[in-house]
Amino acid sequence: MDLSYIIDQDIEKLSKLEELGCDLDALLLIAKDSLSLCDELGLNSKQSAEFLVRLKRVYDQNQGIMPEPDLILYENSKNQASRLSVENKVTGNTIFFRLENPQKETFICDVCNEGGLIKTQAKTHVSEKHNTS
Ligand SMILES: [Zn+2]
Repeated sequence: MDLSYIIDQDIEKLSKLEELGCDLDALLLIAKDSLSLCDELGLNSKQSAEFLVRLKRVYDQNQGIMPEPDLILYENSKNQASRLSVENKVTGNTIFFRLENPQKETFICDVCNEGGLIKTQAKTHVSEKHNTS
């Protein structure tokens, strides 16, 4: 069985794994407890991934590493969005933006009223101004 897809076909990661005295079969054995736990908790694959991401965040925090904020951008319409929201998956907080200028497609933050933000700046704005994680 070819398990290289597990590490996204990344030869460097595979080499690193082998340097550590491990291979992909061994990796599955190491991960077995975590995966069994996910099964026992009744988590599907997506929920299991989320579970592992949260474990990694707690681990990183315990190592003194500040986790990257996990932000997801939503828009109320793909063509001409009038509302945007950015959800922080870690804190569960959502920040909303409303359309400020339809011609320039700029948005204004509902929390701090900073305007002139284009869609692609919404996540950065939340990360820099409203990051409470
Ligand atoms: Zn703001």
